[in-house]
This record gives sequence, C-alpha cells and structure tokens, in this order.
Amino acid sequence: MSPFSAATKQLQRRLGTRIVAMDEAARRDASFDSAKLPFLPAAVVRARQEADVGVTLKLANQHRVPVTTRGRGTTLTGAATPVRGGWVLDMLALDEVAIDADAGMAHAQGGATVAKIQRAAEASGWFYPPDPSSKEYCTIGGNIACNAGGMHGGKYGVTRDFVIALRGYLPTGEPVEWGTATKKFAAGFNLRDLWIGSEGMLGVVTGAVLKLIPRPAERWTLLTSFRDEAHALRSALALFRARVQPAICEFLDRGSVLCAERATGRVVFPGQSGRPVILLELAGSRAEVREQRAVVLGWAAAHATAHAAARSRADAEQLWAVRRKCSGAMFELGDAKLNEDIVVPMRNYVKFARFLRSLTRESGLHIPTFGHLADGNLHVNIMYHKAVPAECRAAEKAVRRLMETVVALGGSISGEHGIGLAKTPFLRIQHSPAQIRAMKAVKDALDPRGILNPGKMFELFEIWKHPRLEVKLPWDHK
Ligand SMILES: Cc1cc2nc3c(=O)[nH]c(=O)nc-3n(C[C@H](O)[C@H](O)[C@H](O)COP(=O)(O)OP(=O)(O)OC[C@H]3O[C@@H](n4cnc5c(N)ncnc54)[C@H](O)[C@@H]3O)c2cc1C
Repeated sequence: MSPFSAATKQLQRRLGTRIVAMDEAARRDASFDSAKLPFLPAAVVRARQEADVGVTLKLANQHRVPVTTRGRGTTLTGAATPVRGGWVLDMLALDEVAIDADAGMAHAQGGATVAKIQRAAEASGWFYPPDPSSKEYCTIGGNIACNAGGMHGGKYGVTRDFVIALRGYLPTGEPVEWGTATKKFAAGFNLRDLWIGSEGMLGVVTGAVLKLIPRPAERWTLLTSFRDEAHALRSALALFRARVQPAICEFLDRGSVLCAERATGRVVFPGQSGRPVILLELAGSRAEVREQRAVVLGWAAAHATAHAAARSRADAEQLWAVRRKCSGAMFELGDAKLNEDIVVPMRNYVKFARFLRSLTRESGLHIPTFGHLADGNLHVNIMYHKAVPAECRAAEKAVRRLMETVVALGGSISGEHGIGLAKTPFLRIQHSPAQIRAMKAVKDALDPRGILNPGKMFELFEIWKHPRLEVKLPWDHK
C-alpha cells in the first residue's frame, strides 16, 4: 500500500474519481517525462478547474504528500518526474486561450500549448515569438516554469521577456496573482519573475498574460556553409557586428549535418556535404528585411564557402525540417545521449569551438553540436553506448569538463532546459554556496513543507547511473 493511500482517498472524495486517477495506466504515463526516468506516483490529479489545484495543494500540505506539476512532460531534464512519488498534478485540461487584440496580449491557462497560443495570436495579426521546437506539445505553464527559449531567442528574447502577469497557487495552496494585464506594474516585490524559471518548485501557474508583437510581414531564409566550425562561429560574429539581427541563426556542426543527412536521406547543401552550416532567417517589415538582406548577402559572399536563399516558403520549410531532424538522428552514433543546452558568450565562440574539438578527440566519443548563435545557446550532444563501460565513463568525464569550461568562459550550464534532475551535479559549478543558500531560503519560505517538486535542483542525481525507459514518445523523431 502506498504511504499516501489515505490522503489520496481523501482527495478522491473531494475532487472525484474522474479527476483523481489511481489506475495503473494513468500512473505509469505520468511516471516519467522526456528524460525517461520512471518513478511511479500514487495518483494523477487531472485538474479540470483552477480551484482543483488549490484543493490538491492544501491537502498535500496537510498530509505531506509530494506534488509534481506536469504540463506535457517534454522536459529533457527530468524536472516533471515524480521522483518522490506522491501526486502528479496534470495541467493539460486547463488550456483556454483568448487574445486581447486591442492590447496585444494573450490570456492563456497554464495547460495551453505554445502552438495553440501562437496560432490564436497569428489569427489576430499578432505574434508570440518564443518558439521551442516542442511547441506543438509543450504547455505555456511548462515554458514559464523552465523559462523556455527556442530559435527566436537572439532577436526577440525568451519566455521571461513575454510574461506580463501570472496567476496560480503557492505551494501551500493559497491563490495568488503576480501583476495585472497592464504593461506597467510597480506595486511590490516582483514575484512573477521569481516563478519564471523556478521549475515548478515555487508555485503552480494556472494562467498567464503574455505580451504579443505585430506579426512580421516578411521572412527570408538563407543557408550558408563554412570551411570548419571555428570559421563558422567567427563569421557569425562578423554578422552581428554589422548590426544584423536575424530572427533565427542556427548553427549545425559537421556531425549534426551528417546526422540530418542520414535522417532525411538528402544532402543538406548540395556540393557542400559534410561542411558546418548556418541557417539564417530574417523577419520584419518588407523594408527592414530588404535592407538587412543586402547586408547578409554581402556577409555570406565574404565569409561562407557557399550560400543559397530559399526560393519559397516550402523550400525554407524543407531546410528547417533538416534542422529539426538532426537531434533524433544522433542515436545512430550511440544509444545514449547527454543532451546539454549550455550558453557561451559570443566573445568566446572560437575558444569554445577549439575546446569541443579537443573534447571529442580526448573522449573518443561523437559530440555533435548545434544551436542558436544569436544568443550563444548551443546544444552539445555527448553520444555513447550504455552497455560499454569505458564509453559511460568517458561521457561522464566529458560532461563535467564541458560544464567547467562553459562556466570558466563566462557562460551557463543551461540556457533553456533548466536543472531538473539531469543538471544537479553541475549546479555548484555555476553557483557559489551563498547563491545556493539564497535559492534554498526562497524555497523554504514559500514551501515550508517541501511539497512542490521535491528532490530536484539542489539534490544530487547522477542521470547516467539510472536506467532509462525504452519508450518512443510522440515527439521523438526516428
Ligand atoms: C523534441 C523537443 C524539443 C525541445 N525543444 C526545446 C526548445 O527549443 N527550447 C526549449 O526551451 N525547450 C525545448 N524542449 C524542452 C521542453 O519542451 C521545455 O522545457 C518545455 O518548457 C516543457 O514544457 P512541458 O509543458 O512539457 O512541461 P513539463 O515537461 O511537463 O514540465 C517541465 C517543468 O515545468 C513544471 N511545470 C509544468 N507545468 C507547470 C505549471 N503549470 N506551473 C508550474 N510548473 C509547471 C514541471 O513541474 C517541470 O518542473 C524540447 C523538448 C523536446 C522533447
């Protein structure tokens, strides 16, 4: 019998068996997220009304039941894994979206997908730029909790830059609102920003007011290839120096290009096979795109080994499909991946490219890397075979060296995925003991009983020592 049985029965009596599910299938589905580390919860609470969240948290505090909030479970860090059991609070049914077209704001419930918000905004001539590749699945609540980014980060910013106000529940179950649907708000401490990026540990987001910007009238896509990685990264700096702000500036190293080619069965850039590429998109008014296009073409002629503009939106879409496929295709290089989303300051791009080359040589592993050059957020994928002990040891050593190096270069151990379970061994590389003490003090103040998402962020979890489920999720490409 689960240690939380009596409390769960009480919750079922309060909210009903349609909301509080204890069956095997529901519990199994909520036992893991995209990190695929299974920990079975005692029940899944599928909130139908925002008030269900408050009822759940109040009872959880009374009986000391751990609660893990779950959007769609696309997090790659294990942040939505109920590592201490208890209840999983499923937010997917709270998914209403309304656009205030006059104010340029979206009102969304925590379980609405980002794609739904984007489509609603675009139907009213507005644009919601944060663009995680998982947007058809992931929720705005999950994006706020992780401060999600995506390909648009360099020009427009990340989720934090678009949150005007939040509504939800403290870990104790009390309802709160941080801000109002106004562009200015200077009344009291800004706890809205404390919730953003708090990985579901400081509160539950039931509703958000989001800033929208006018939908860009024009887009233009260019593919460029380079002699080698260091040259590609150095060239990107020359582009930013020319004051060009691409809406997207994606880098794929040689390893990532080869993976994408294997996955799609087509050469990314005919005549340039096996070369690193940068895929650029300009977006804005017609005049703005025309002006920047001239600068970009001059830059490409001077720096790239070749360049080619997409002739149509369909042509551009094919290029973006290549970029989206490269990550899944990496499993050809190993059956296990340490997927890191580090950030490197632009001034250190070339040093970082050299470091990656030596890390690949010394570890003997494949480390394909791609990412968002306009904000320094690179996805470094350390591939290994989990049945080969020497490769496991090499991967563990490589990831630690990677984290130490990015922090030494003035960067960050995560730019958009957060800490969850997967990055806990590295938090102390990024933050001093005083900084971690301050974070823990905030957690203790808001969640005195440690109810919300326990076992994450501050407690050591070595992901490479834990078996992962062999399961294919809807967003896994193969
Ligand atoms: C194929 C793929 C591509 C991805 N691409 C990107 C990308 O480009 N950029 C990027 O940033 N991330 C990306 N991710 C990671 C992931 O999609 C994001 O972290 C996303 O924000 C998670 O949203 P979710 O709804 O799935 O949340 P979940 O995975 O369910 O939860 C993530 C965290 O948020 C908390 N949480 C969820 N909902 C709430 C809520 N309502 N209130 C409070 N806390 C909550 C959870 O407790 C957990 O800590 C990708 C993942 C995959 C699988």
